[in-house]
Amino acid sequence: MLKIVKQLQRETCDCGKEHSLTVKEILLESGAIYKLKNVLEKVEIDGNGCIVCDRNTDVAAGSAVSQVLNSEEKIVIDLPEVHADEQSTQFVFDRMGDADYLVAVGSGTIHDITRYCAHARGIPFISVPTAASVDGFVSTVCAMTFRGAKVTTPGVAPAAVVADTDIFSSAPKRLTASGVGDIIGKYTALTDWRISHLVTGEYLCEKVYGVMEKALGEAVGAVSDIARGKPAACEKLMYGLLLSGVAMQMIGNSRPASGAEHHLSHLWETAVINEPTPALHGEKVGVATALVSQVYHEIASGVSLQPVAYEPLSDREIDRVFKDTAPDIRRENGVDMLLDVDFHRIAENYEEIKALISKIPQPGEIRELLGKVGAPRTLSDIELPDAVLEDSLTYSPFIRRRLTLMRLKKLFCVVK
Ligand SMILES: [Zn+2]
Ligand SMILES: [Zn+2]
Repeated sequence: MLKIVKQLQRETCDCGKEHSLTVKEILLESGAIYKLKNVLEKVEIDGNGCIVCDRNTDVAAGSAVSQVLNSEEKIVIDLPEVHADEQSTQFVFDRMGDADYLVAVGSGTIHDITRYCAHARGIPFISVPTAASVDGFVSTVCAMTFRGAKVTTPGVAPAAVVADTDIFSSAPKRLTASGVGDIIGKYTALTDWRISHLVTGEYLCEKVYGVMEKALGEAVGAVSDIARGKPAACEKLMYGLLLSGVAMQMIGNSRPASGAEHHLSHLWETAVINEPTPALHGEKVGVATALVSQVYHEIASGVSLQPVAYEPLSDREIDRVFKDTAPDIRRENGVDMLLDVDFHRIAENYEEIKALISKIPQPGEIRELLGKVGAPRTLSDIELPDAVLEDSLTYSPFIRRRLTLMRLKKLFCVVK
């Protein structure tokens, strides 16, 4: 198990919460897959395992994993396009027989498919990530596309993660670059969490916050070497991504790993103000983080804040902007959460908010980091026109009922 996770679990936490984790074992090292059998024993899983992979991840690790497990049971999803959708899940259901557990060998999509199928059949699964591309490996929910629409469905977290550095450090560069985008997003995610804690007293665990901040710094410090595919550097990235997943499990929601930058990415995914973009999750998050950084640094550049009159979105505006997804937006938001926020609490904490923002790299620095690994840096890099910027910043905070500085910003203007 990762040492830090053990520590977080063992200690009684000062935040008053009993942090629990469903993932029982995380192995992150070179040659990790050769310890798969030990891991299975440790987490008390036995019986018939069935590997789930696609053609690419079969070559990267699927064959090696079946050798280690002495298993003939392997489902290679060889559909023309593998998405976490009805087709792929049916493909797995049709072939998994009476497997006692599944082994996801792949990146995010294979994990979502496996998580969904394992949950539906009530069996555990083991995660073998083949790329450091997202932070969702240990997630308990599945990001699926059913009937063409993105939906989040219940799933099961892996009983164990076996992340082999030799495998994920040789992943396609685009996937690793996407993971860098997802990790860079933690700058604004963590800042949003801290600001909401300051302004509204929202629950925050200092320990989880602290380890996330440290892991983020280490992953970002390794970006040049990540770009060169150096295993030790890629390991730092994977560590940050896995830890984000662990942090979400411990807190009980995605707060430690998702803020205003993810709201932009989610809004673009719903394609209500834009045409669909082919960009990967982390690619969108990376671009979004630079945009959020720009807005936040502008907020930090003033001398004081002044209140402005605020009107919640009208039903008409929600319908106009969010179109088919309007009912979801209304359900998610309920009564507008800004109505409960006291402007004076923001104004009182302005200096502290400025200090927090100063820890977020400037937008130019974020784009430079993204550029180093060859990740998209701008809206046009992810095939979105600049014209969507204004609506993206205005409406993305309503995509989730979660307080961010981007949302709080509607209550004030900055006096320069
Ligand atoms: Zn993410
Ligand atoms: Zn805590």
